[in-house]
Amino acid sequence: MSGDCDFGLIGLAVMGENLALNVESRGYKVAVYNRTTSKVDDLIAGRAAGKDFVGTHTIEDFVKAVKRPRKLMMLVKAGPAVDAIIDQLLPLCEPGDIIIDGGNTYYADTERRTKRVEDAGFLYVGCGVSGGEEGALKGPSLMPGGSADAWPEIKDMFQSIAAKVGPNNDIPCCEWVGPRGAGHYVKMVHNGIEYGDMQLICEAYQLLKELGGLSNDELYDVFDSWNDGDLQSYLIEISRDIFSAKDDQGGDGYLVDKILDIAGAKGTGKWMSQLALDLGVPSTLVTTAVFARGLSAQKEARVRASEKLEGPGKSQNPEMRAVVEKLIGDKPAFIEAVRKALYASKIVSYAQGFVQLQAASAEHDWNLDYGQSALLWRGGCIIRAKFLDRIKEAFDAEPNLENLLLNSFFDDAIQEAQESWRAVVATASVLGIPVPAFCTALNYYDGYRLARLPANLLQAQRDYFGAHTYKRVDMEGTFHSEWLDLR
Ligand code: NAP
Repeated sequence: MSGDCDFGLIGLAVMGENLALNVESRGYKVAVYNRTTSKVDDLIAGRAAGKDFVGTHTIEDFVKAVKRPRKLMMLVKAGPAVDAIIDQLLPLCEPGDIIIDGGNTYYADTERRTKRVEDAGFLYVGCGVSGGEEGALKGPSLMPGGSADAWPEIKDMFQSIAAKVGPNNDIPCCEWVGPRGAGHYVKMVHNGIEYGDMQLICEAYQLLKELGGLSNDELYDVFDSWNDGDLQSYLIEISRDIFSAKDDQGGDGYLVDKILDIAGAKGTGKWMSQLALDLGVPSTLVTTAVFARGLSAQKEARVRASEKLEGPGKSQNPEMRAVVEKLIGDKPAFIEAVRKALYASKIVSYAQGFVQLQAASAEHDWNLDYGQSALLWRGGCIIRAKFLDRIKEAFDAEPNLENLLLNSFFDDAIQEAQESWRAVVATASVLGIPVPAFCTALNYYDGYRLARLPANLLQAQRDYFGAHTYKRVDMEGTFHSEWLDLR
């Protein structure tokens, strides 16, 4: 038996409730269920009052309320809860039914669950959802992957609720990503890039504040002007707004200055970093950003160290100090140099993210469309930015582009920025300001553009102590040498 609801949603915390309201607002009838059933009643009596909703108190009634083929979406805590709900749904599903997981799920769990649900005779979708609670309500970025047969069934609904971009605001930030865990992987890379973007912005903030001496009002103006140019993005925009927020606890001054400098993390950045290590691809930006959060969390140790460890003294490197102080002494020039360093580093960060996607796609046979991924992130999500249009154009022009740095638009941008980028990293270094993400981005760029790295010596060391062998530049084959005999 089936009901007349077009869609079913399980999990009425912030994300689920908002997404259900979004779906209903597009003309669909929605059934809802939550383990703690009082939340169902609260929604039906509250925000969903007078709307086309059916509240249910058992999973059986929930499944029955939805018309076939059923679209049953979970927005619950990622992990065992998803398996527990699949256990409950499978005996109730009928051929053609689709189970969808919109949580922040680890991609390998989605690979496993797709197989499990398909083996049971149904369809499964792991859908990355980005944009937080506001996005869920007004238009998220959606990254669905899984059983390909599910896509024609959910396409219209998902594209109708997704964020829209383009000159006519009619291009949905939702397209089919690929098989099994591909959607959740793309979402994870999105989150990892978000880590990099946030860390880079924080480094720019520290440079402008500590070296440039900018006040919060000045930072507001700088970020406002940056948001009109190449750096235009949601994260620059909200950072600008943060600089204008006054203390809401009755104190003097700005709220940002009262916030404890310990960064939290939920783990998606760490996943991306761990998977980069597994793939052997150098996603150094996200990894550095994860470690920077880790160092921030060692607050007490840092406070103790700050009382003991010296930075560069005033008298150190007087000639070098004179050079860097000249740069920071010209405030507008310094602000512009930091902007360029941020932009160049951001390009490297995205280049690394796409290299990791390419490696994962090859490893898992996902056949990802990289330009499309950039478009999915163009609206609705945290890393939405004008810049992503350029990435889409780059992959549209050259679908097998090896690295975004090789695209002429981004190459030109780096050439334009690199002198400032180097000056900013050098200045920070001389004056003892940590810029780990700016620095790792520059190091990646310099490493990537060198045809010959010192790994020849490394291979010699490995062969010397472990007979790991090496290859030669001038002849084919694999070689081992008795190094002590060659002196
Ligand atoms: P959440 O706090 O992650 O999860 C709470 C929901 O999960 C509640 O509905 C809860 O039911 C349910 N739940 C937990 N364990 C369960 C179990 N064993 N069986 C059945 N239901 C269970 O909620 P959220 O913040 O709305 O996020 C939902 C999902 O979206 C998560 O995967 C999250 O990572 C992802 N996400 C969140 C955001 C965000 O900005 N919050 C953004 C993107 C993606 P009860 O009410 O009965 O406890």
